Amino acid sequence: MLARCGLNPDRAASAIIARCFPQIAYVEKMAIEHIPCLIIGSGPAGYTAAIYAARAGLAPVMYMGSQPGGQLTITSDVENFPGYPDGIGGPEMMQDLENQAKRFGTDVRYGLVTGVDFSDELKKITVDFEKELTADAVIIATGASAKWLGLKSEEHYNGRGVSACAVCDGFFFRGQDVAVVGGGDTAAEEASYLAKLARKVYLIVRRDELRASQIMQKRVKNTPNLEILWNTETVEIVGNEQAGVTGAHLRNVVTHEVYDIPVTGFFVAIGHQPNTKIFAEWLEMDTNGYIKTVPGTTHTNVEGVFACGDAQDHVYRQAVTAAGTGCMAALDAERWLAAVEANV
Ligand code: NDP
Repeated sequence: MLARCGLNPDRAASAIIARCFPQIAYVEKMAIEHIPCLIIGSGPAGYTAAIYAARAGLAPVMYMGSQPGGQLTITSDVENFPGYPDGIGGPEMMQDLENQAKRFGTDVRYGLVTGVDFSDELKKITVDFEKELTADAVIIATGASAKWLGLKSEEHYNGRGVSACAVCDGFFFRGQDVAVVGGGDTAAEEASYLAKLARKVYLIVRRDELRASQIMQKRVKNTPNLEILWNTETVEIVGNEQAGVTGAHLRNVVTHEVYDIPVTGFFVAIGHQPNTKIFAEWLEMDTNGYIKTVPGTTHTNVEGVFACGDAQDHVYRQAVTAAGTGCMAALDAERWLAAVEANV
């Protein structure tokens, strides 16, 4: 009978009841909820996965995580997401996505997934350290978080001159002077991008060399309106309530010279941290913690677990690309569930 149900003989009794005897599964459901398609995370990837999964009849349940709506909720205006010719506020766009996902029946819930156990075909999930669930298919859309310097002024002026995304916010600083902090490929890319829009870009680098790839190093060094401030750390971002950011207070760590630069935009580009820690025991990841997927798909190394959005993409990291992979994850999950069902 276990084989007929497509189950591992070691599977817990609760799973057998839930899958093979749904008429009496309510007994188990009182103890533990089973979700056919669970979506973890509520950014553009998660909501797009939810829209597709709901429309496919998978009755998805989404746990929104610690930042409902994801990174876009801290972005003022989104002007590069197709379909909004006049742009839209980040929080409003995420509300639209949530409404769309709910319209097709997604069960959107507050809660942070704090633990997973993918050792069995039936995935075990812990929410808020206490609630236990099981799921057949799991779509991971937990995104990434920008790393910040940790300055009080950085937090204070976030969205009012301080940003962690040049592609999202650079347009607002056309013809102005801006600063970028960081020495890696992200900082080099952001600085190069901004140099095309801004009058002048300062690249604030804490050491006397860049970590960025040779090609990016060459590019920033050859950009005429880009000045690299070597051995420099940011003491504080300067501004006022009316204007937002007006400058940055800097310190040369070699000469100890302290000075100000006048800038209206301050971009922090010291890396992103994918929010994937809780999956580390189960999923293959690259050295930076991005989940590895089978190229061209959202399949991870665990059957029935799919990853989309920034949790698996360190290259593009755009709302629209996250949404695209969210769609892929829902289609992959739908096909995987159908194949499992067909084999039962
Ligand atoms: P990295 O970790 O490569 O670089 C971070 C940079 O920020 C380093 O220069 C680091 O300095 C600096 N930094 C870290 N903390 C601070 C701090 N508190 N104050 C000041 N500076 C700080 O991150 P990236 O996001 O740049 O890149 C991550 C990965 O993604 C890399 O493998 C990169 O190659 C890849 N990537 C690839 C791209 C592409 O292929 N197009 C585009 C963007 C990223 P220090 O060097 O002193 O440690």
